[in-house]
Amino acid sequence: MTHILHRTIHTKMPVAVGGKGIELIDAEGKTYIDASGGAAVSCLGHGHPEVLAVLHEQLDRLAYAHTSFFTTEVTEKLADRLVADAPEGLNHVYFLTGGSEAVEAALKMARQYFVEKGEPQRRHIIARRQSYHGNTLGALATGGNEWRRAQFRPLLVETHHIDPCFAYRFQETGESDEAYAARAADQLEQKILELGPDQVMAFVAETVVGATAGAVPAVADYFKRIRAICDKYGVLLILDEVMCGMGRTGTLHACEQEGVVPDLMTIAKGLGGGYQPIGAVLLHDRIFDAFAQGSGFFHHGHTYTGHPMAAAAGLAVQEVIHRHNLLSNVVDMGDYFESRLIERFGNHHNVGDIRGRGLFRALEFVGDRTSKAPFEPALKLNARVKKEAMARGLMVYPMGGTVDGRAGDHVLLAPPFIVNKQDVDAIVDRLGEAV
Ligand code: PMP
Repeated sequence: MTHILHRTIHTKMPVAVGGKGIELIDAEGKTYIDASGGAAVSCLGHGHPEVLAVLHEQLDRLAYAHTSFFTTEVTEKLADRLVADAPEGLNHVYFLTGGSEAVEAALKMARQYFVEKGEPQRRHIIARRQSYHGNTLGALATGGNEWRRAQFRPLLVETHHIDPCFAYRFQETGESDEAYAARAADQLEQKILELGPDQVMAFVAETVVGATAGAVPAVADYFKRIRAICDKYGVLLILDEVMCGMGRTGTLHACEQEGVVPDLMTIAKGLGGGYQPIGAVLLHDRIFDAFAQGSGFFHHGHTYTGHPMAAAAGLAVQEVIHRHNLLSNVVDMGDYFESRLIERFGNHHNVGDIRGRGLFRALEFVGDRTSKAPFEPALKLNARVKKEAMARGLMVYPMGGTVDGRAGDHVLLAPPFIVNKQDVDAIVDRLGEAV
């Protein structure tokens, strides 16, 4: 029936023909609650009338203008809005069409920053093993999941990976948060010293780890320690908030909850809520100033950077979130979601951890709740739960795989910010049946 090369070649997908509110509809007329927001994208659900009105208007006005010739009103407006709402110092925006492109651009900005500053030898990137930063070659090299990287070696960018991202903390007992954060930060410092402090360009991390590890927030003070180490050695901090950002965890940017400001931050997914493909890098003044005082140029560019339709989607989505005070709904419904998940799955034999923030949650499956021992790889639950959930009209995002010899097995839950208690109840009920 199809000539499209799908990610999973042997799996037949239902054909999605429509969407309204928190539901998608397939060609047979069956509806599915979008409890994953696709892949943490659809923050306003589907067919939101206020977003559609803005998009129709922009399409009538102007669909495309190349940035070699023009800037556009709508792109400027979105940039203003993003800067107004950004942590202090992140006063500049570069637009892209998605998350991987944003990560690529951020890596190149870091590189150019040091070239402009006369430190071209700084080129090492340090990232974490349990991470995903995208599928283009630079982003792939930065992510730590060996299963994704292995067949593409040698990778074009050499990256150095450290632990941990706290994904397996639920299996580890006895160490205080403080000691854990100190040990994790020490790994970064040791790696910088090993590579040579004047050789390291950037440390890249997801503020709350998304797909690879399953909605894992850092322990308290970890990012403050990381920021201090980066400052001590002049290493740039790049936070990847492609998945966890733009309100998903209850604040616009997840790093607000960590009390740190990165030098570069990537955003995408929820920025345009799926209404158009869009991503962006937010740059700190110190990066922008180095370019402005140096070559006066950013050595990068894409045909669709600053696309007016994408900007219109981003602006409309962000304005709806503001107008309807949806971040407070993310906090309230996030709390309710957490309590319902604990009530339903807290004693389940095969659920080892229930975690996350806001409307960014995950269930981690194990072979035994008490010992937290993982399933045998052959018995992975996430894919089976996804299949059972789809049969019951529910979308959950299955992830896992073996990272560094440790098995992750979880489903990610990232429903639209417009959910109410009845919606959350329906999600938990269907998920309960599927599990
Ligand atoms: N970074 C993170 C943290 C992501 O979760 C993703 C997508 N899952 C990406 C980057 C890549 O984004 P995209 O798929 O839009 O290229």
